[in-house]
Amino acid sequence: MTDFHRSAQWQAFTKTARPIIKAQLPLPCLNTDPARGCSGVVLPGERFDVAHIPGFDHMLVGRMPTLSEVGAAHSSCNRAAGAKLAAQRRAKRKARAERMPAW
Ligand SMILES: [Zn+2]
Repeated sequence: MTDFHRSAQWQAFTKTARPIIKAQLPLPCLNTDPARGCSGVVLPGERFDVAHIPGFDHMLVGRMPTLSEVGAAHSSCNRAAGAKLAAQRRAKRKARAERMPAW
């Protein structure tokens, strides 16, 4: 989870998008993680999160996604991908901080 995903704007968006996506299931899992037993497809009745399509990075574009820019990802796959990304960002920040001269 990023701060963006905690924002009221994103919460309101997923509330709108979720039933629309749900009606379209089965859909490909956007954060498919075969190591977690993901079949690659989100089936009706499975727990899913509203996820961004690959390549849509709200951090870069600075706006909310449209409904065509989101899809479904299993909750377990999405959380795993988010945690991985957050860890990568933390490691990058740490590496940068360690390169700073220590006056
Ligand atoms: Zn999945």
